[in-house]
Amino acid sequence: MSATENNPFNASWTYDKAPESTDHIQLKEQYELFIDGAFVKPLKGKYFETINPSNNQTIASVAEASSEDVDKAVHAARAAFDSWSTLSGRERGKYIYRIARLIQERAREFAVIESMDGGKPIRESRDIDVPLAANHFFYYAGWADKLAYAFPNKTPKPLGVAGQIIPWNFPLLMAAWKLAPALATGNTVVLKPAETTPLTALKLAEIIQESGLPKGVVNILTGAGATGAAIVQHPEVDKIAFTGSTAVGKYIQKTIAGTPKKLTLELGGKGANIIFEDAAIDQAVEGIVNAIFFNQGHVCCAGSRLFVQESVASTVIQKLKERMEHLIVGDPLDKNTDIGAINSTKQLETIKDYVEKGLKEGGEIYQPVCDLPKKGNWCRPTLFLNVSQSHTIVQEEIFGPVLTVQTFRTIDEVIDKANNTPYGLSAGVWTQHGAKIFHLTQQLNAGVVWANTFNKFDPTAPFGGYKESGFGREGGLQGLRPYLKFN
Ligand code: NAP
Ligand code: MG
Repeated sequence: MSATENNPFNASWTYDKAPESTDHIQLKEQYELFIDGAFVKPLKGKYFETINPSNNQTIASVAEASSEDVDKAVHAARAAFDSWSTLSGRERGKYIYRIARLIQERAREFAVIESMDGGKPIRESRDIDVPLAANHFFYYAGWADKLAYAFPNKTPKPLGVAGQIIPWNFPLLMAAWKLAPALATGNTVVLKPAETTPLTALKLAEIIQESGLPKGVVNILTGAGATGAAIVQHPEVDKIAFTGSTAVGKYIQKTIAGTPKKLTLELGGKGANIIFEDAAIDQAVEGIVNAIFFNQGHVCCAGSRLFVQESVASTVIQKLKERMEHLIVGDPLDKNTDIGAINSTKQLETIKDYVEKGLKEGGEIYQPVCDLPKKGNWCRPTLFLNVSQSHTIVQEEIFGPVLTVQTFRTIDEVIDKANNTPYGLSAGVWTQHGAKIFHLTQQLNAGVVWANTFNKFDPTAPFGGYKESGFGREGGLQGLRPYLKFN
């Protein structure tokens, strides 16, 4: 059934508007590159526009870094390395704490700008992205003077200059995941945010400047893929930390093969969310919604493949449809919004193409009835029934609010199906039986397996993938290791 009339679940009441105010935020019309502790114009004088995907209006124009700017930033990072890496861990930690506190102080501003630039609901940027970003800095600040305890009987040393490239789905949070462990371990950094969401990284640059962090330790270069490629190719970069698509990850791996550069890749996913018949069904339905519709489904570890045990399938699907009918799609700055704007028109096209493919290959679609705003990039939460392992939408990462639903009878069957993917980033298991959970966590080929919950993140917990989801871990003690050498 599509978004049409006569829907049995149609909500009988609605929420009033609850917009977050924007009068407290400070945005410039034009943003420069952050190199060597200062905001500087790009050498080639090029700028691009960053758009608000909920109305497709320009928010600001942003400098585009050329390979010459990359060169300048890498040299600044290199020049800062000796004194930063030999500063005591305790002193390094103080700067990182300061950055964490400054994020907290300006949390409201960060949250609003994140939602404006990227389209995610303010509830998520306010309650998840921004606090978690601050927590990452707090957590790694704590490690800065304890590296010898983290790796006993070894002498951990920083690698040098880290080139860090991040995607658009969690712009500030991904910047925090990258910067905090790199700084705690004594590396210096050149970081590139994604083209569609540069603003919170630039706000972070302002905070970094305010924190008094020695110049050159962190450099932030805005730009598109070419800027990222120039960072990857720069001969004086010692390590690349990349989060993004598997295709670009493979390209990076090929590019640096044969060089001494170290690499970590956090790539795509197609997570399985498995509901057993003994699960608490209502909680599981909430978990399914959170797993796939959180952040419009722009989540690498989204639970985009649902597996429901056959005996409870009709109940779960019925309840899920009913729950979807009550999801509010719309203005990211409204505090009641559940699903915000799709990050870019390009991503919306990609999602639409997948939905069409799903239909063409025989999938049965369900989308709730809901009004969508006239302007901007929107996608209704979408469910596909009647699909099997061979369907394109079951195989490939859609990176949008589109869920495929399959059923299973036995544990072995669902383990086979869940692992039948080139990816290996996340999975979820819903059951009352602890033994079943432990069995599945052993068998599922995924970097993180959530039990009776989904999409929970914590700076103390390592996160990363298997197979085409990449390698290396971010978060936790394990997240220090990719920024260190031990000789
Ligand atoms: P993407 O196209 O791979 O872009 C990621 C970053 O790489 C962006 O900053 C991008 O720049 C840059 N880039 C593009 N081409 C490049 C090149 N040739 N060399 C170096 N850098 C290049 O991915 P995306 O579409 O932004 O993000 C979605 C993907 O990220 C999904 O597959 C998702 O699963 C994955 N992801 C993974 C994790 C994880 O932890 N495993 C977390 C979040 C997202 P521009 O975008 O500015 O052009
Ligand atoms: Mg934008």
